[in-house]
Amino acid sequence: MQKIAVFCGASIGFNTVYKDDAERVGAYFAQQNIGLVYGGGKIGMMGALADELLKKGGEVIGIIPHLLVHEEVVHSDLSQLITTKTMSKRKVKISKLVDGYIALAGGFGTLDEIFEALTLGQLGIENKPIGLLNTAGFFNPLLAQLDVMVKEGFLKQVNKDMVLVSETIEDLIAQMNKYTAPKISKVVNTTVK
Ligand code: AMP
Repeated sequence: MQKIAVFCGASIGFNTVYKDDAERVGAYFAQQNIGLVYGGGKIGMMGALADELLKKGGEVIGIIPHLLVHEEVVHSDLSQLITTKTMSKRKVKISKLVDGYIALAGGFGTLDEIFEALTLGQLGIENKPIGLLNTAGFFNPLLAQLDVMVKEGFLKQVNKDMVLVSETIEDLIAQMNKYTAPKISKVVNTTVK
């Protein structure tokens, strides 16, 4: 994988383990020569990740919609900063550039972005690997919710299995490199009986 989109918090979290992992991801990307595509912010987890990768001489592309371009949040030292008209155009631009997606700890924005990638994968529109970096079990309750969705018949196991999970970036990237997308895409049955 040459470029990976990383979605993560505009906040830094209360526990330093999250920031530490964001920096670890930045350092690993630099070491493996993986380019980062991300939200373009200099704040929170996004800033910690981008700063570490830039410090180590790596490539960082920020993609940010006009409405979020404020001097206090946008990163000014990126390899490239691309602005888009809307949030949705930003997602399309990101998807065109990357070979895979990773979410680190974050909030609504992070979940929105990673679930959009999963939805594209579920529909067979994309077949790129999608991973969660499960720092200190951060995503365990979310993974439990996905199991509820499978159990209750709202999510296919094969689609749940698209979600790659690891506590280390090294193992997560190894899983992503081996990933093959499920053959079956979701068919929505609209037949009314
Ligand atoms: P959240 O997880 O709610 O903190 O939102 C973070 C995610 O949404 C990131 O992956 C960004 O792509 C996007 N985002 C949210 N706030 C900003 C911001 N101020 N600047 C750039 N991107 C942002």
